[in-house]
This record gives sequence, C-alpha cells and structure tokens, in this order.
Amino acid sequence: MPQFSPPLRDHLFCLYDLLGFESHARLPGFEGLTRDVIEAVLAQSARFCSDVVFPLNRSADEEGVHFAEGRVTTPKGFREAYAELVAGGWPALTADPAHGGQGMPHMVNILFEEMLNGACLSFGLFPGLTRGAYVLLKDHGSEAQKALYAARLASGEWAGSMCLTEAHCGTDLGLLRTQAVPQPDGSHALTGTKIFISAGEHDLTPNIVYFVLARLPDAPKGSRGISLFLVPKVLVNADGSLGRRNGISCGAVEQKMGIHGCPTCVINLDGATGFLVGEPHQGLKAMFAMMNAERIAVGIHGLAIAEASYQNAVAYARERLQGRSPSGPCAPEKPADPIIVHPDVRRMLMTMRALIEGCRMLALWTAQALDASERHPDAAARKAADDLVALMTPVVKAFLTDSGSEVANLGVQVLGGHGFIRANGQEQHVRDVRITQIYEGTNGIQSADLLGRKVLHLDLFAAFATPVTSYVTTHEGREELAEFVAPLAAAFDLLEDATRFVRERAAAHPEEMGAAAVDYMRLFALTSLAYLWARAAEAALPKSNEDFHRAKLATARFFMQRILPDTASLHAKILSGALPVMEMDEAMF
Ligand SMILES: Cc1cc2nc3c(=O)[nH]c(=O)nc-3n(C[C@H](O)[C@H](O)[C@H](O)COP(=O)(O)OP(=O)(O)OC[C@H]3O[C@@H](n4cnc5c(N)ncnc54)[C@H](O)[C@@H]3O)c2cc1C
Repeated sequence: MPQFSPPLRDHLFCLYDLLGFESHARLPGFEGLTRDVIEAVLAQSARFCSDVVFPLNRSADEEGVHFAEGRVTTPKGFREAYAELVAGGWPALTADPAHGGQGMPHMVNILFEEMLNGACLSFGLFPGLTRGAYVLLKDHGSEAQKALYAARLASGEWAGSMCLTEAHCGTDLGLLRTQAVPQPDGSHALTGTKIFISAGEHDLTPNIVYFVLARLPDAPKGSRGISLFLVPKVLVNADGSLGRRNGISCGAVEQKMGIHGCPTCVINLDGATGFLVGEPHQGLKAMFAMMNAERIAVGIHGLAIAEASYQNAVAYARERLQGRSPSGPCAPEKPADPIIVHPDVRRMLMTMRALIEGCRMLALWTAQALDASERHPDAAARKAADDLVALMTPVVKAFLTDSGSEVANLGVQVLGGHGFIRANGQEQHVRDVRITQIYEGTNGIQSADLLGRKVLHLDLFAAFATPVTSYVTTHEGREELAEFVAPLAAAFDLLEDATRFVRERAAAHPEEMGAAAVDYMRLFALTSLAYLWARAAEAALPKSNEDFHRAKLATARFFMQRILPDTASLHAKILSGALPVMEMDEAMF
C-alpha cells in the first residue's frame, strides 16, 4: 500500500542547520517565530496532510471529477477536506494580516505546499491557484477590489483561477483574442473562450474569482495589447454579499493523463462582467505576479511528488526479496535478500534522494530570498534578494519538475513490474507529475527565460555568482570540505565558461540562445545544487556521529561523484553551438 509521511526532520535541517532560520526570523514581521512555533506549525500541517488529504489521493485518481450541465463535482471527500483546510487557516499562511492572513515566511509555506501536494497534487492545486490569485490582487488590484475580494481569497473562502490559454495560443499569449468591451458603468463585457483552465469550475467554494487576459477594442496587436480583468463567477454586491450569476461558465472538462481530481476546463465568457486590474494593456506584466508565484509553486509540486515516490520506493526495497547481495547473503534466514542490497537499486534510491534533498534546499534558498526581498530593512539587500529570486524562479520551476519526473520514473523502476500496477501508487506519480513540466510555461520556455532574459538581457548572473564564489574562496582551504568544495568550484567554472560562450555567440547568431537553453538550465541547476550540497555537508560534518547527518554526508558525496559530473557533458553540448540542432532543413524531418 502507498504511504506518505512528511519528511519533517529534513525540513528542520534545511531551515535551521543549512539556512539559519533563527536569524531569518529576525526580519520585520516574523517576530515570535521561535523554533517551537515553527516545529508546531510543521507538525500540525504534517498531520493534516497525511491524515486528511493523503487518503484522498488514490480514490480521487480513480474517480476523477464529474461534469454535468455546466457543473463540476469534485471527487468524494474533497469538499470535507477543503472545509477543514480553510478552517485550519492553511491557505492564509503567508497572506497579509491586513487581509486576515498569518504573515508567515514563504520558507514555511513552501514546506506546507510540499506536504500538501505530496499528499495529493489534485487537491493541492485548488488552494495553490487561489494563493496565486490573492498575490496578484494584493499587488495589482485597486483598493475597492481588495476590499471585496482579498480577505476571501486569502482565507480560501472563495477560490481563484487563472484564464490565459486559448485554443490557438498557449506559449504565445500575444495571439489571444478574448475581447473586453468597456461598459457605461466602468466595468467591461468579456467575450471569448479559454481552454485548459485548472479548477475553472468546482463545488468547493460558493464563488470563483477568475483572472482573465483579454483585449480592449483599441488594443495594440501582440503582447503589448493585453489587459487583465477580474471576473467573478457570481457577481458581488457592494456590501460583499453574493448577487447574480455572471456570464462565465464551464463548457467542458478535459480527459487527461493525470491530476484526475482537478478539473481542467473549457471556460466560456459570454459578455461576462469583468473589472480591469491595473492599467489598460499592461495585463501581462501584472499577470506575472501570479505566474511567478505559481512557477515556484509548480516547482514544489515536482519536489512533492518526488518525495512521495521515494518513500514508497524505499519501503518496497526494504521488503521485496529477490536475489542475494553480491558480497554474500544479508538475510540468510530468508529465501533471498531485500532488493535494497543491490548496487543498482541503491543507485536509483540514492539518485532519488540526492535530487529530492537538493531540490528542497534550492526551493528553500529561493524562498529565503523571496522573504528578504519583501521584508529586509536594507534597500540594497532587498534588491540583491529580488535579483536572486528573479534568476532562480525559472530554475526552481524547470529543474524541480524535471527532477520530479525523473524521480517518479525511478520510483516505478525500483518496484519493477509492481511499479506499473495501479494499486501500488507509483504509476500515478508519473502521470500526475508530468504536467508540471508543461504548464506555467513549458520547461523549454523557463530555460529560455533563465538564459535569454535573466542572464543575457537583464545580466543577473552575478546574483548567483557572488554567493557561490565567495563561498568557494572562504572554504577552499578547509581540508575536510575539499571533497565538496573542489567539485563545486569546477562546476562553477564550467557554468561561467558556458555563459561566456553563449553571450559571445548569441548576439551574432540568434539561434544560439534557444539551442543552448535547456542544457544551460540544467548546468545552472546542478551547480546551484552543488553549492547547497557543499553547505549541507559543512552543516552536517560536526554532527556526523548521528545517522541523520551521516546519511546527509553520504548523499552529498553521491551527488558530487555520481550526479554533478553531468555538468561536463552539458558544458560540451552547449559549446557544440546551434549548428547540430539546426542543420537539417525542415523538409528533411
Ligand atoms: C492540465 C493543464 C492545466 C492547465 N492549466 C492552465 C490554467 O489554469 N490556466 C491557463 O491559462 N492555462 C493552463 N494550461 C495551459 C498551459 O499553460 C499551456 O498548455 C502551456 O503554457 C503550453 O502551451 P500550449 O499547450 O499551447 O503549447 P505550445 O505553446 O503550442 O507549445 C508547444 C511546444 O512548442 C514549444 N514552444 C512554443 N513556443 C516556443 C518558443 N517561442 N520557443 C521555444 N519553444 C517554443 C513549447 O515549449 C512546447 O514544447 C494548462 C494546461 C494543461 C494541460
């Protein structure tokens, strides 16, 4: 039977031993967040996720959502669990206290989201989208809009949904056609069809607040002519009570590969009343507030599924008896040894573990910068943190979801044929996590955002290079750390060289950036993980008499010796340039 138990020990190691949460909690607004408080919050959320949400995971996958006469019914148990989620205040962890939120650090919320989505991704998507909608409204809504909607989105009483995609436009939002016509009362009438809208219709909340991208009649062509509108499913009266049903409805629900418990909807707007958010034609910029929050959240979904798959794989590898250890029987009293003795099974489990723990550190390091970018009293420190978040967001989205898929596939392989069988839970992880590499901007697009925009155009590379080079300089003389710091320094040299190469070539050869982007993202991510694994090893060394820290050191060594060497191959691929990718004429395919 699949099992799930949030990895609280590692969460606390990352927060306190690796990232110094005690001093982080001195940022304004985090007063009172002692270790006792944080441990209690994490333990409570672990209980909620494993006891209330996890039992829904497999039944929701089997049952799916039901669609009839424009209405979506979520799988059995979702409504009750959602009510408990809201009653527990979980959606409002990071929300502004002015909107009834708890003002908690992003670092804590990341861990909550990992637990929630590891327990059941289909369920976690509903509050995840709502949180993104809240962030968008908080950053870009008018005071009147915030007064009506912010607190209800923050608490999860009403749900949020984002409506960008249309049949002919996914990545290229400049092609979108949905029209918004100004009305005498200052509102707009929206007409068009959106597709692939997650949680676009459901029975969990009495209202859904859609954030819709559309064009005004005088809009310039392309992405500079897109405006953002708030469109409630049920119109809201001035006193906050619910009024009449708006002209927005669900026309169909997709049949899809995974996340069966979360409806993916066709949403029809038939003269729906919408309210402009921010300035006309500036919608895409505002929408990025939601998309950036969602991109980090989607990365966490990859990590969450990876952790869930790993737990099942380890439990199975301890019990499944096949063959004998190459160095002689480990369980001579049994007919065979457990498969965990076999080096190839170990290779798979160690790869899963090294990626999961590395990705967790990367997500938390980015979340730490996100907290600092919002709260640090020093403007220069806020700016440095903001640059790091901008640089790392596409890495978190793309690398954590690529790793999620890789780990989930290994999680099937560890179980052999039993991994392919539904009842054992592993194949669901492969299906559920697959979409995370695609939505919120495909990982190809994230990689282009990292290399083309963040590194080459905005020149943010230093935001990463500064902490890494300073760490290497400070620690390279420490003999006990040499096995971690030397490979980090070597990987960083390759990354710098690849950056220089693409920078020099990209100006004259427009295809160089696109041809290098995905390999570059992976090289960047592995180097980031090397930096964090070196720091983790440094934190674990003084306590290496305890099993937890010995395991941390062994995993750090595995990462440095069995995963990080991939950087040499990525570097070589990047330096081969665009020609091998582009040489064939289109007709030759
Ligand atoms: C289950 C599910 C849920 C979703 N939820 C939502 C939602 O809630 N709201 C919403 O608005 N949308 C949602 N989407 C849509 C999703 O964000 C898009 O599917 C995604 O952005 C990709 O767009 P597309 O499918 O049209 O692919 P395309 O844009 O057609 O891309 C096809 C391929 O071409 C590549 N490509 C395209 N353009 C470029 C380029 N310029 N450079 C390099 N490569 C390129 C892509 O990387 C991809 O590999 C969802 C989709 C799914 C399947």
